[in-house]
Amino acid sequence: MSVMDSAPPVPGTLVWMFILGHNLHYGLFTTGKETLDEATDAMIDRMASLTRLEPETEALDVGCGIGNPAFYLHEKTGCRITGISISSRGIAIAGKKSRDLGVSDRVAFLQRDALATGLPDRSFDIAWIMESSHLMRDKPGLVAETDRVLRPGGCVLLCDLVLKQAFSVADLYRYREDLAMLEQSFGDAKMESLEFYQAAFAARGFSRIESHDISQEAMPTLQRWKENLARNQSSLAACFADEAMENFSRSCSILTRFFRDNRLGYGIIKAVKPQ
Ligand code: SAH
Repeated sequence: MSVMDSAPPVPGTLVWMFILGHNLHYGLFTTGKETLDEATDAMIDRMASLTRLEPETEALDVGCGIGNPAFYLHEKTGCRITGISISSRGIAIAGKKSRDLGVSDRVAFLQRDALATGLPDRSFDIAWIMESSHLMRDKPGLVAETDRVLRPGGCVLLCDLVLKQAFSVADLYRYREDLAMLEQSFGDAKMESLEFYQAAFAARGFSRIESHDISQEAMPTLQRWKENLARNQSSLAACFADEAMENFSRSCSILTRFFRDNRLGYGIIKAVKPQ
């Protein structure tokens, strides 16, 4: 049973906060002394630093989780932001927070599939894809839909776990138990390389493509997750079987090893749609 699949007494997405902190993505550790929450905010800042977000900016947050990056970006820059996610629970939590904060006219959430958003053509200046692309197997579909909803001159920013070295058939066999464990803990995921994303956007005519490998700065996140798991074990025990927690902790160790061995890493891609 994956941590995701167990039926917790509080909404599943919120339970993750005991482990991942207030954002549902990796942190960016520059000094190593940051708290996890500071580091995950720093990851948002790093991504945002690659473009300009202003009160007139219309941003689309693709795979918005429970909305924290959207609130954070709106608060810092005043931008208007629409968060979409496939998860009805995530959208319900984010929507309630937006109403509670009184910002629902500027920060809105919709339950949509990133591969077929149903949103109008050329309606956003920024597509913000934060740690959701690995959950979508159809990467060309994601890139095409992102292209469709961006205005000419619009910018896509994507950050995620990335593949640094492809797994050969022999590797898949060798690491089969580790990979099965990761799937149990994190669900079905498909990572691609930074070069893959660069080529995918370039093929659609995007330019000014930048890629940033921030694997070293992201890696300490995994140790922090393990520590949070140990620290919050009693609260989490109400929601997860011991085995699921043990497996999650082991999964963090497996990922750390893959990061160290340069098989997996973390990166940011920026690309600009032609005018
Ligand atoms: N970007 C958020 C959440 C990352 S978790 C943050 O940084 O905090 C990944 C998110 O992607 C979840 O909200 C999940 O529901 C969403 N997701 C996964 N597949 C999706 C799809 N096909 N379409 C839209 N959202 C998707």
